[in-house]
Amino acid sequence: MIGKVFLVGAGPGAPDLLTLRAAEILQRADVVLHDALVDSRTLALAARARRIPVGKRSGRVSTAQKFINKRLVDAARTHRVVVRLKGGDPMLFGRAQEEIDALRSAGIDVEIVPGVTAASAAASEIGVSLTRRGLARHVALVTPRAADGERGNDWAASVLAADTAVIYMGARLAEMISAELMKRGKSPRTPVAIVESASLPGRRVFLGKLADLPRLAAQTGDGPAVVLVGEVLKEAARERGAVSASSVEPLLRQA
Ligand code: SAH
Repeated sequence: MIGKVFLVGAGPGAPDLLTLRAAEILQRADVVLHDALVDSRTLALAARARRIPVGKRSGRVSTAQKFINKRLVDAARTHRVVVRLKGGDPMLFGRAQEEIDALRSAGIDVEIVPGVTAASAAASEIGVSLTRRGLARHVALVTPRAADGERGNDWAASVLAADTAVIYMGARLAEMISAELMKRGKSPRTPVAIVESASLPGRRVFLGKLADLPRLAAQTGDGPAVVLVGEVLKEAARERGAVSASSVEPLLRQA
């Protein structure tokens, strides 16, 4: 066994949101197995490495997790510095544990480099703190998406219990999300936001109310998006005149 595998967070997209540690490891990398969402400028840092896309984006061609695990093990048997580059933070909704377990059980050394997760990037994009004194002390990061064969969990209970919720992989499920939360007692007037492509040039922010969520989601494009739910968004939504259903204009901002 000659190699070591670094599970590295690429951050939400903008190459300069990468940590210095991640950049340094990418420069030393012999092989990089990367997600589909990783920016080409970030990948360019791995100048000497063989770069292998093992992208996973819902609804598109993807590489089965077991196969990725095997490729990582194989790469560590033949190369010194192997990087598994994942969008955002590797330890959130990235199936990192399966890779860590596979590598450890093959006796391979693993090191994790954290990254800026989508929830943080989205909050920065809107300029709204996810926590706030006296208003929000409980933040939930959830996804309603379950892998094939995976037991569903009660994501809605977490959103209902939290002061602020950030829903990953949920923009395409907006209709179900808003219906389920309202059915279980969440006010249709609860402020919500969808942030698409946070930190990237195509970033867009949509603000409104829970009842409007499907309409807001219908305006999003192809980029990755998170849904935020909670009273902390109230002023942002009101300031931009987007609270009323009649003016759910996307807020376009340039990089
Ligand atoms: N490990 C990643 C999450 C992977 S799941 C992290 O920590 O951010 C992929 C989901 O993350 C997407 O469906 C979307 O909900 C969210 N996401 C990733 N990048 C994003 C971005 N730049 N803007 C908004 N949401 C993003």
